Amino acid sequence: MTRKVNCPICGKRVPWDDSAPWRPFCSERCKLIDLGEWAGETRRIPGPAAHPPHDDRQEQH
Ligand SMILES: [Zn+2]
Repeated sequence: MTRKVNCPICGKRVPWDDSAPWRPFCSERCKLIDLGEWAGETRRIPGPAAHPPHDDRQEQH
């Protein structure tokens, strides 16, 4: 008897055995979506590092 889990992305039933290499996701696509959301959230962190406050144009005439 195969244990089944729900895909965290789409909710599809996924058998927890070697027939589902992407478990707990139902497919590679759902796995990538999950990774993408995680990466997207990380990138959203606003930071001044992208635009340093240093501006040396003002020192030139
Ligand atoms: Zn899925």
